[in-house]
Amino acid sequence: MQFADRLNAIETSAIRELFKLLGKPGIISFAGGFPDPALFDVEGIRESTAAVLASNPGPVLQYGATEGYQPLREQLSVFMKNKGATVAPDGLIVTTGSQQALDLIGKTLISPGDKVIVEAPTFLATIQCFRLYGAHLIGAPIDADGVNVDKLEQLIEEHKPKLVYLIPTFGNPSGATLSLARRKRILEIAVRTGTVIVEDDPYGELYFGDAPPASLLALSDSVPGSRDWLVHCGSLSKILSPGLRVGWMIAPTELLARATMCKQFSDAHTSNLTQAAAAHYLTLNRLDGALAVVRKTYAERARVMGESLRSALGDAITFNAPQGGMFFWARLTGAQGKETNATVFAQRAIEKLVAFVPGAPFYAHDADASTLRLSFATADVAKIEEGVARLGQAL
Ligand code: PMP
Repeated sequence: MQFADRLNAIETSAIRELFKLLGKPGIISFAGGFPDPALFDVEGIRESTAAVLASNPGPVLQYGATEGYQPLREQLSVFMKNKGATVAPDGLIVTTGSQQALDLIGKTLISPGDKVIVEAPTFLATIQCFRLYGAHLIGAPIDADGVNVDKLEQLIEEHKPKLVYLIPTFGNPSGATLSLARRKRILEIAVRTGTVIVEDDPYGELYFGDAPPASLLALSDSVPGSRDWLVHCGSLSKILSPGLRVGWMIAPTELLARATMCKQFSDAHTSNLTQAAAAHYLTLNRLDGALAVVRKTYAERARVMGESLRSALGDAITFNAPQGGMFFWARLTGAQGKETNATVFAQRAIEKLVAFVPGAPFYAHDADASTLRLSFATADVAKIEEGVARLGQAL
């Protein structure tokens, strides 16, 4: 069969190949990007689904508006307000996960050959999605405080990109969080250079101690004109359930209208049943309680993973302990003559029945082969200790 040329730009993900091995009996996996299903508020979601089917079966089971189910848009407006960002219900559209928002951004903004700046490393699905639209991706370096803003400014001046894609809070895979000072500078740079900034924020609520700095969106009120250049993607996936497929996109009016048009031809609208259930759920005052449990559980798992890595791998590995989210981003140092290639290490680890993802696929170019991503979200504390001990043996 002759497939479309656009598929030539992407490879099947190395991670997907690795996932095939995860079914091995007894394996402990730090490889996935899934939240812990044991923490889903099943009772609240069941109650919400039953309630909307009882009170509003017609609209909930009928076709609906492409922009989203209005009661959910209203609830999401309140949710964003509580996070410090003023967004009218009509200032956002509901998307089928934030993944669809990323696709709509690609569809509406990227022409073949357009330059797009992403963090190095960044979310693999964004790399693949933007490449499908013909983007020429340019990686901007990051450190523990997120993207290096001096370098980003330089890259923007040099390449005049169509857009800059950032995960400012508890990045996937980096775990890094952009400092407040850098956030403000990025908004100023966006206005001065007329550059679209996409803020992808699925992890911002998963903080372990203090809340992270306000989102670019929330800060945009203090930088005149910056809202005109800002696109914000949110999601219920990591705070309620990814199976609901409820995300949202906040953007300037004209972009939102075009994204809505493209969504119409793609899936017509996000499932009304899950949108209505999510809207009802958000009125129940359960989310804060459910989130408190998620934060506490992940914080403990992250602490144990950090301590275990230090004791089992010592100076053969370096990492920045994340303050939230789901991931450790680590680098093999080669100390004591140990392996530095994370793909080779991943294969040995699988033999010892422990899995993680090598970091290379998360780079748009010039991959650092010594990096790796470890998720602490789904394994309990005992499994984390055992899994990291196996990593020590594998290395
Ligand atoms: N952006 C980032 C950075 C992610 O890590 C993910 C999920 N792993 C998504 C977007 C997509 O999430 P969803 O479509 O479930 O909202």
